[in-house]
Amino acid sequence: MKKLTRGEFLGMSAGLAAGAGFSGCSRGGQAESSIVSPELILLNGLIYTMDPGLPVADAFAVKNGRLIAVGSSDDIKNLSHAQCEVIDAEGMTIAPGFIDAHSHPSAYGVAELVHVDVNLPSIEEIKKVLRRRAAKTPPGQWVIGFKYDDTKLSEGRPINRFDLDEAVPDHPVVVGHRGGHTSVYNSKAFQLAGVTARTPSPEGGKFYVEDGQLTGLAAETADEKMRELVPSGSTREQRRQGVGLISEMMTAAGLTSVTDANVRLEAMESYQDAYRSGEMRFRVYMMISGGSSAYKGLRSAGVYTGFGDEYLRAGGVKFFVDGSASERTMRMSTPFIGRPDDYGILVMQQEELDEVVEEAHRAKFQIGIHANGDVAIDMVLKAYERVQKEWPLTDFRHRIEHCSLVNPELLKRIKAIGAIPTPFYTYVHYHGNKWLHYGEDKMRWMFAHGSFLQHGIPVASASDYIPGPFEPLMAIQSMVTRKDYKDRVWGPNQRISVDQALQVCTVNAARASFEEEIKGSISAGKLADFVVLAEDPHTVDPDRIKEIEVVRTVVGGKTVYPKSV
Ligand SMILES: [Zn+2]
Repeated sequence: MKKLTRGEFLGMSAGLAAGAGFSGCSRGGQAESSIVSPELILLNGLIYTMDPGLPVADAFAVKNGRLIAVGSSDDIKNLSHAQCEVIDAEGMTIAPGFIDAHSHPSAYGVAELVHVDVNLPSIEEIKKVLRRRAAKTPPGQWVIGFKYDDTKLSEGRPINRFDLDEAVPDHPVVVGHRGGHTSVYNSKAFQLAGVTARTPSPEGGKFYVEDGQLTGLAAETADEKMRELVPSGSTREQRRQGVGLISEMMTAAGLTSVTDANVRLEAMESYQDAYRSGEMRFRVYMMISGGSSAYKGLRSAGVYTGFGDEYLRAGGVKFFVDGSASERTMRMSTPFIGRPDDYGILVMQQEELDEVVEEAHRAKFQIGIHANGDVAIDMVLKAYERVQKEWPLTDFRHRIEHCSLVNPELLKRIKAIGAIPTPFYTYVHYHGNKWLHYGEDKMRWMFAHGSFLQHGIPVASASDYIPGPFEPLMAIQSMVTRKDYKDRVWGPNQRISVDQALQVCTVNAARASFEEEIKGSISAGKLADFVVLAEDPHTVDPDRIKEIEVVRTVVGGKTVYPKSV
């Protein structure tokens, strides 16, 4: 094998991250032989590095799970040796591993394992699967459905209490909306909760009543109250397996890192269990639930954002200000179409928000606040502006989770305070029917990836899975075309290019977790997290981007998808 001098090596590694992060490389140069024994090299790829120093390359080398050289196949080929794994990409497209900066893998990994998937096209089919599960469930125990979507049913109406009673009269039933802010319950469940049509709705929530009867639908804090009665229905072992399962599903779609946007003690434990057992295939940034004992415990132990390692890290702290975009409960300054008195729901008032933001900011926690509507976003900005004035930090990167409906004034303030928005990136495509409730005027300012980038705001990726599908290629198609699954276009002014969409899913997402030094681009010194795609999203028909096959996903130099490689 040809031995390279340090000078030759550096010359070859264009796009090198300023010499930082050379594992095994001493600056004096005596460790050259270890530098040039990569464990993996990839040749003949069309590599979109997302590194402005070398935007396109065709080969790279990996050692100790990190990229050590990026350049041309001719140069990188020289690093090959007998024990080195060689991937010939045969002209396929390579991108940095995709990062989902806001999703809920721990909660829904285990749901995939133990609950009833009701992501089905009709009420009749949902009734059938619930009935089947009830037949196998001991009397008195809950039947728990998840991934319900009221806008995708062939009956053209949402499921209600009467449907659920007919399917399952003797067990309490909850059918959770995939948006996560509303659920439908059967009569047995309401009996257990002592809720009747005359029960007043709690503040920040609603029990829906029609013609003097509960419809079954409960929103926001009303739903949360009901949920307190529902057992998690899973064991520690199942939750560990759930993390393994969801990491398998997500890496198969090309994701190599995710932020879990609402982590409590149980989820923290499940991630650690799955990491330790080797079942966890992706990297996780855990945003800690604001009201949880986990947050209080970490704070009192002096732990704050960034604690952990390259696989599992404590992230920011998460709070909620308003309702949901997909379930049409977000708080806006103008009403929903066809519901002139409905401006959505706030779940926190300014005073309380100011208090929790102050406490977290002063404890050096990055903060992520769920705010969909323009009213809620304004409140979050007020809270951030206040703490930054009182206790200025140089690089705090507080986030606005979802940040769905903006306007020019909000955009200016987001830029000025340096906040990071994480708008839904698969929603325009996947949730098309819901946009009828907002209308095109609002959609021109919703999920405003185009406006954020124009204002120089480092907008990051977010599926919010399960509310939105997590497939990053669907996300790229959605952001590029702004077309829904029925070919309707929503807010075409917010379209962005394929390169910009890649930026949202890689470098910007890495920045949202303070990890841009180690991930987000294919650059020497960074983690070897990448994805091999059968076709180039830049050149396929934009309406087909989501059909591009993910051929291989690699995390830290190890192939995690497909399993057999
Ligand atoms: Zn979320």
